[in-house]
Amino acid sequence: MEYLAHTFKKGQKISEIKNGFVACAILALVSLFARKLFVGIVPESINQLLIEVLVFTVFYETYSYFVHRILHTKRFRKPHSVHHYSVRTTPWSAYSVHPIEALLIGMSAPIFMLMFPVHLGVIFAFHILGVIFTLLIHSNLQLNERIIFSQLFNRYTNYHSAHHSLGNVNFGFVHSFWDSCFKTEFIEKKVVNKQA
Ligand SMILES: [Zn+2]
Ligand SMILES: [Zn+2]
Repeated sequence: MEYLAHTFKKGQKISEIKNGFVACAILALVSLFARKLFVGIVPESINQLLIEVLVFTVFYETYSYFVHRILHTKRFRKPHSVHHYSVRTTPWSAYSVHPIEALLIGMSAPIFMLMFPVHLGVIFAFHILGVIFTLLIHSNLQLNERIIFSQLFNRYTNYHSAHHSLGNVNFGFVHSFWDSCFKTEFIEKKVVNKQA
């Protein structure tokens, strides 16, 4: 099965920037709720650090997969359509989401912190890496195969581009574990872009 990444829509970037501005303000506000939920600044040992990283990774992958599946149900289709307005993505598409979706994304860390003791440094590092990764998977870039880690990079961008092009596939964020469990995984090696 092949799919085409579509052309950019007229005014797409402006609308993505506006949506992203509101979404980032909501994310910043929600993060204020987490201020009192940390157990410390940095973990006391490497073991503690590894446990927190592992547990949060599993939690976030699970949380984001199921929240994303819920966003594709009839009730939430309309708010999630703000993000799917970008069929051909750019880094500006990354945070072009409805305020409800921004709230759901932002609540992931406070919900986790209510269930599991975690240090500020770990959550902060995840936030930074999460933002970079979200921008990359929306970049729609295909790196030359001679560049180191290009295959991994291209796999990630293709994976999420397929979600924007096809809809009900590839709901996962970093890992395809839940997509393969629920048979929502779609892997296409090459994305054919119609240049705008
Ligand atoms: Zn979606
Ligand atoms: Zn997306």
